[in-house]
Order: sequence, then structure tokens, then C-alpha cells
Amino acid sequence: MSEASKAVVLNALTRAKSVVISVHTRPDGDAIGSQLGLGLFLEKKGIDVLMLNADPHPYNLDWLPGSDRIVIYDGSLEQVRALADADVIVIADTNAVHRIGDHGTLVKDGKATTLLVDHHPDPEGWFDLTWHRDSASSTGELVYEILAEWDIQAMDQAIAASLYTAIMTDTGSFRYSNVTPDLHRRVADIIERGQLDVAAIHAEVYDKRSSGGIRLMGRILDTLDLRFDGQLGMMSVTRAALADTGASVEETEGIANQILSIEGVRVALLLTETERGTKISFRSKADDHVHGWARFFGGGGHRNASGAFVHKSLEETVRQIVDSAPRYISFNEPDSSDSLSAEDEDYLSALLEMKNKN
Ligand code: 5GP
Ligand code: MN
Repeated sequence: MSEASKAVVLNALTRAKSVVISVHTRPDGDAIGSQLGLGLFLEKKGIDVLMLNADPHPYNLDWLPGSDRIVIYDGSLEQVRALADADVIVIADTNAVHRIGDHGTLVKDGKATTLLVDHHPDPEGWFDLTWHRDSASSTGELVYEILAEWDIQAMDQAIAASLYTAIMTDTGSFRYSNVTPDLHRRVADIIERGQLDVAAIHAEVYDKRSSGGIRLMGRILDTLDLRFDGQLGMMSVTRAALADTGASVEETEGIANQILSIEGVRVALLLTETERGTKISFRSKADDHVHGWARFFGGGGHRNASGAFVHKSLEETVRQIVDSAPRYISFNEPDSSDSLSAEDEDYLSALLEMKNKN
């Protein structure tokens, strides 16, 4: 991002009296943490802020200060007016109109200045302003940059906890390939400014599983299906498993990454059966890219983490996955060390010929 375009974004935000912030459907830690971090900061700057999302956030983000003020879009006159009257509408952690939810088209076609704050590749072209870098670890990191340009002193404990949660959840607790020394320096700054207890934050986000959630995990682990000589690993979350264990689908968070931890697995898929169809989560190790494959199923995402939703049964989805897999992932041929090489076969037949002559 050029200094000039940064200045244009800051100019629009500093002049705004009212800002609406929305994130993607089924929001995750990066979406909610970024929304709260930016929202609480803008409020401190005297701006009227409405945080408006299509879906509620997962229960393990309830502890985040201010999360109870996030409003769910219901199409009410009041909300439609707020969207129409906003000076700036910020879209965070997604860059596609259909991922915003039902109010997406109001945002896109309305008269408010739209600002994209996001790290997903290939943003749609309709945003008036963008603070975008797909090499960024998270949207939370980009919000940190906005604060750093504007007034980093304004970062209090609540803002710091939000941004820390955003970055922690989108980097797999600081271990993915997008983690850089620079990111660690920024995170150190966030921890210091917010006087954060990082162990407590980690426990809030990851150690609040229900017993039903663990039983659900057992049911899911049992569905492991390895294909292409163990290079593709799949697991399924069935509606029956959800009903039997009483756990919520949010508690499956992180399972796709566990499939990827199996030695030899290069691409991991978690399939979640719903009433309307099947949700596919794609995860891959560094050199295998899954966003093209996700796009084939009408979804998208990052090179190593993508998603899609198909209006098909679980069984049909599995069939289509296995059919389409070789077009998107170049799996290695199965190890052929058990069978004879052409050279070995030539040698053997020559030997046999000699024996027969003798
Ligand atoms: P998850 O598997 O955790 O739901 O999603 C992983 C990533 O894939 C998300 O961060 C998001 O970028 C992307 N993603 C998930 N679902 C969809 C979808 O339906 N459409 C698109 N375009 N991207 C998705
Ligand atoms: Mn993100």
C-alpha cells in the first residue's frame, strides 16, 4: 500500500461522523477481533459506530469486551437507515459482497464510502477505498497498522485484547507461514500496550469446550477417510453426530487442521452436513494450494485455507471431491518399490533365458 492511499483512508475515517463495520458470515476470531478493535478505537475518536453482522459470533468470543454490542442484521428500517446514513462502511476480513450476508448489496450499492480492510486474495473491485494486503497474517494486523498510522496511544486493554485474538486465531497461535519477525514485534507492542495476560486469552478462546464437543470430536475422528495414497485426508461432521452429542457446529473449529497434522497428508478436508447442503473446509500444507479447488465448488479463500458451500448431500459432495481432486492437486503416484522396475524385469527374463538354455 502506498503512503498516498493510506492517507486517503485515514482522511476518510477521520472526517467520518458515523461508521458501520461489517464482517463475513459465520464470523471467526479474526473477523470479530478486527471489528471490535477498529470499532472501539473509532468510538474513542468520537465517531458513532455500528457493528453489524449477518451471523452471531461463536460462543468462545463472548468474553471479548464490547462483543455484546455487535448487532445482527434483520433488515429493520432502523438498520437500513443506519447503512444509508453512514459516512463510511468498513468491510473487514472478507472482500466479496456475497460473504457479507443479506445486507451486502445495500453496502455495495449504497451511497456511503466503502472501505475494505482485508487480507484475502483477489478483492472485488467495487470498494471505494482499500487497506488490503494478502501477505498480511490477519485482518487484525491491518487494523493494527491503521491504529499505528493514526494514534497508537489510543490502544487500551479492550482494543489490544481484540487485536491479539484476531491475530492469534488467524495464525494458528503464531505458527503459520505468514508469521514474520515484524508481526511478532507488532504483537509484542499490542501485549505491552494492553498489559495482556496472553495465557488467559488463549484459555478463553481454546479451553472452553463442552463435554458434548469432545464427544463430537470422537465421532468426527472416527470418519477419517484417506485417499490418494494417504495424501488427501477427509473427515465428516454428520447431522446425526451433532444431534447425538448435542454439541454445536462451532466446536468443530480446528479439526481440519488436525487432519493436516497426519504424516503424509498434504490436503485436508472437513465436510459438514447441514440441512441445506454441505460445507467444505479446505486446508493444505505450504506448496499445495486449495483456493482454486474451493472456487470450483463456488467458494474461495486463501491458498492454504479455503471454504465452500455446496447444495448437495454429503455423499454426493464426497464423490465430486474425489473426482475433481487430481485436477487441482498433483498427488504423487503411489510408491512402486514393491513392484519390479522395467530394468529389473529385463534382468530377470535374461536370467531365465540363460537357465533355459543350460
Ligand atoms: P473455514 O474453512 O474456516 O470456514 O474457512 C477458511 C477460509 O476460507 C476462510 O477464512 C475464508 O477465507 C474462506 N471461505 C470459507 N467459506 C467460504 C465460502 O463459502 N466462500 C468463499 N469465497 N470463501 C470461503
Ligand atoms: Mn482473516
